[in-house]
Amino acid sequence: MSDQLPQGATIGILGGGQLGRMLSVAASRLGLRTHVFEPGANPPAGHVADAVTTASYEDHDALAEFAASVDVITYEFENIPTAALDVLQELRPIRPGREALRVSQDRLTEKTFLTDLGLRTAPFADITDADSLAAALEVIGTPAILKTRRFGYDGKGQARILGPEDAAKALEDMRGAPAILEGFVEFSCEVSVIAARSADGSVACFDPGENIHREGILRTTTVPARLSGKQRTDAVLLAAQILNALNYVGVMGVELFVTPQGLLVNEMAPRVHNSGHWTQNGCTIDQFEQHIRAVANWPLGDGSRYADVQMENLIGDDLDRLPELAREADTAIHLYGKGAVKAGRKMGHVNRIIRG
Ligand code: AMP
Repeated sequence: MSDQLPQGATIGILGGGQLGRMLSVAASRLGLRTHVFEPGANPPAGHVADAVTTASYEDHDALAEFAASVDVITYEFENIPTAALDVLQELRPIRPGREALRVSQDRLTEKTFLTDLGLRTAPFADITDADSLAAALEVIGTPAILKTRRFGYDGKGQARILGPEDAAKALEDMRGAPAILEGFVEFSCEVSVIAARSADGSVACFDPGENIHREGILRTTTVPARLSGKQRTDAVLLAAQILNALNYVGVMGVELFVTPQGLLVNEMAPRVHNSGHWTQNGCTIDQFEQHIRAVANWPLGDGSRYADVQMENLIGDDLDRLPELAREADTAIHLYGKGAVKAGRKMGHVNRIIRG
């Protein structure tokens, strides 16, 4: 294992959204610098990073210059073009590594990886055309969800199929993109495990949080989740199994469906995760610091939870409630500095401490 990154060293972050912003703040608390690479103008992370490169992922000169200016590279989103990674990895270590990106960029690869590990997912099938969809619906049945294999987020690129008559329209919604069909899971609740692994193979998991989504977007995460002791153990063990299998370095979010038959993995995100924001006010070491520690080769911190917390996302017009939120007791406000309020856009979140 190489040495711990020293004070003043620089972490390169691909992506300048709110996750990159909160990673930058955590890095700076540890005396580390950050350099953000982001194609869009005025990124939220740019307000707090030490340096920002505004360039496209196709601009290989800009990528090389960025890499040369940093000690290690990490990222806040998983859809980084492969050619950009090829340029970067020649110059600096990328943590988490390529395998985690390869697996999580494609829902079919991801589900196959998970089931090969012996973990359970919703039933799924590769869909290439109307015939394969009809055949898959015969096996999986309805209701089902058709999802694009790549580039889906916040419920985008998904179409529900309640009966065979919905199939043609759902396929049309994919606009020719490769897709998978998933059987609809009747879950009692959704939880996620935010797990960290360091280069020496140590793993630390935060307490699982319970997630509520609306219109495909996460609204709240509450800790503790309503899980039995056994379910909680199963959740953290399976997350650790995923991290080990990928030889992973950094923080990952693993979303799970809780069913009477056990835990099913919905998806994994090779990065800090919205459902881990509660850790900022519920733990001594939050997910952002934990990720920075892992990629900087520091020992993982103690992520044990000292409070019950509910995280609520502030989406679009929710920001109008700021004056009231600012008067609430036991409520920590985290805003992302985004200029334009748009419907469905994550503008910030609050963490409310729940007193018993
Ligand atoms: P995803 O983008 O795959 O995380 O989907 C967003 C949300 O849609 C999930 O958090 C679930 O609430 C719901 N969802 C996705 N896939 C399924 C499924 N196979 N069965 C039931 N609900 C699902």
